[in-house]
Amino acid sequence: MNLKSIYPPHGIRIYWGPMLRIRFHGRGGQGVKTSSRILGRAAFLAGFLAQDSPIYGAERRGAPVVAFTRISDSVILERGFIFNPHIVVVMDESLIGDWLARPLEGLLRGGVALINTAQAGAPLEVSDSHVVVRLNITDEALKIIGRPVISAPAAASAAKITGLIRKKQVLEATVEELTELGLAEETVEKNLRLVSEVYDMTPHHSIKINEEPSRSLEVVDLRSDRVVFSDILEVGNAYLRKTGNWRVFTPVVDYGRCTGCMVCYVYCPDSAVKLDPDKKPVIDYENCKGCLICVLECPMRAITFVREAKAYA
Ligand code: SF4
Ligand code: SF4
Repeated sequence: MNLKSIYPPHGIRIYWGPMLRIRFHGRGGQGVKTSSRILGRAAFLAGFLAQDSPIYGAERRGAPVVAFTRISDSVILERGFIFNPHIVVVMDESLIGDWLARPLEGLLRGGVALINTAQAGAPLEVSDSHVVVRLNITDEALKIIGRPVISAPAAASAAKITGLIRKKQVLEATVEELTELGLAEETVEKNLRLVSEVYDMTPHHSIKINEEPSRSLEVVDLRSDRVVFSDILEVGNAYLRKTGNWRVFTPVVDYGRCTGCMVCYVYCPDSAVKLDPDKKPVIDYENCKGCLICVLECPMRAITFVREAKAYA
């Protein structure tokens, strides 16, 4: 069985195995789960069978989230985690340095790493082992919808990379998924513009996927005597998890406007806003995860934000 590429012989030709596996990595609030759903639905509209599912722990804005999409032209019996994807979609580049998330792990030889990044660099980099596609999807989202939610455009970009799904199918899937989520018509319209733009700006290249994993699977022995529970059972220990490395946007207080009302202190879900002796807010950047709730809640509009660009290897 072969999945047929939509591209003519002179265009992109991607030779997948019998099943195409895509793994999405992002942060709570970026739309990771919805992205995998839009891609799955678009594949379905393109005539394939598809399966999508997310994995996340506590629903927490900024926390690493993983989602999976499988695409095939026959019944998909495989379930669970995708250890060896053909494509990884890294919706937040700071995850690349996160030793727990490890988004590039297991990428098949010849596979594609699609990275949403603010860093300069060639949009397409091809090596013997992998293809890297770099796009600044977040900036496009900020320009068009005014928020860094990139579910639909990330799906659009991944769809183009598969070589199996046309733009109109991603657009249709976007309307269906976002309408099901109850988004306003105007927001859906903006997402369609964004999808169209990001689909077009996604570069393509002829690649051949080797079905062999680039790393062997590791079997983890979960013997209970190796598990350390003490940190989990202690109360009031959230500060020990330095969630500052989750941050994509950094809140910045303008003390000229700040009245010291303490609203940001009350609303910060991670207690990352401290008060100085004059009761003015001081952000603890080691623990601020960049959810920007303080920006939304500040009645004086005294907190703005800047995008962080974190280096990755
Ligand atoms: S909510 Fe705004 S005005 Fe109030 S303390 Fe925080 S920064 Fe200052
Ligand atoms: S300081 Fe602001 S951006 Fe940082 S975690 Fe608290 S509410 Fe979120």
